[in-house]
Amino acid sequence: MRKQTQRRLIVTAAAIVILLSTTTVFAQQDFSKVEIKVTKVSGNIYMLEGAGGNIAASVGDDGIVIVDDQYAPLAEKIQAALKGITGKPVRFVINTHYHGDHTGGNEPFSNAGSTVIAQENVRKRLESGGIAGNGGSVKMENKPASKAALPVITFENDVTVHLNGEDIRALHFPAGHTDGDAVIFFPKNNVVHMGDDFVRYGFPFIDVASGGSVQGMIAAMEKVITMLPPDVKVIPGHGALSNLDDVRAFIQMLKETSAVVQKAINKKQTLEQMKQAKILAPWEKFSGSFIKTDAFIETLYNSLTGQKGQFIKHN
Ligand SMILES: [Zn+2]
Repeated sequence: MRKQTQRRLIVTAAAIVILLSTTTVFAQQDFSKVEIKVTKVSGNIYMLEGAGGNIAASVGDDGIVIVDDQYAPLAEKIQAALKGITGKPVRFVINTHYHGDHTGGNEPFSNAGSTVIAQENVRKRLESGGIAGNGGSVKMENKPASKAALPVITFENDVTVHLNGEDIRALHFPAGHTDGDAVIFFPKNNVVHMGDDFVRYGFPFIDVASGGSVQGMIAAMEKVITMLPPDVKVIPGHGALSNLDDVRAFIQMLKETSAVVQKAINKKQTLEQMKQAKILAPWEKFSGSFIKTDAFIETLYNSLTGQKGQFIKHN
């Protein structure tokens, strides 16, 4: 019993050290200065940017459907921004995946009467909490979410919300950014929200500890491209409004960097040797403040060798 308690303390202390030493998109922020920028994307679809993941909004006579909801402290500002477009209520929130910068507003939106919809692994991971990470140096602790923050409607493969004259469809892709990703299609308006399977901040964070993988991310994006018209407007999980050429360039970078790391694995190089040899130097421009080159080498190495890192379960 005592030994167990000691071990738990050590694990907790280790987790705190990791959290303090890692720059993360979930880091505590001052939200008081965040402004919500509203961009009309096409027809009755808008994109909202504040802090955290991009929000898509279908706004019409039937009410509002939003995709992702950033952080809880921003919910009032998001509601106010939407009020600037229509007085109708937010009837549904669809989560693209479970990360806190996309689901943090679930609780306030639920409390205000919205129904939250997500893939079933999103609900499971929100409910349990756990460690998100790339299986290496990037680790983030997620506390179990409150009951009010949990999706009320879940789906395994897909769900369609028929509102504002459109069949808004969420389609699950099994193992890209996480194991609960959904891409959201607005076919009438020719818009798609990619969640974090496509981002514009450089090397992507792939949550290998939560069932994500680079192979799954490539497969998801390649499949999505075949389902979309060439002039579709693409809302990335993070970053500026994009098009399919931007997605293709992203896929190409993922494929090329994966091939380089796979080649090194085949040559029996260790992770440390790969970092020292700077094998991703030609892609240095993708090294960002969140995922630096070495962290991306870890991500690819862990994806390609099937290592998920240490999963720490919380009480
Ligand atoms: Zn994410």
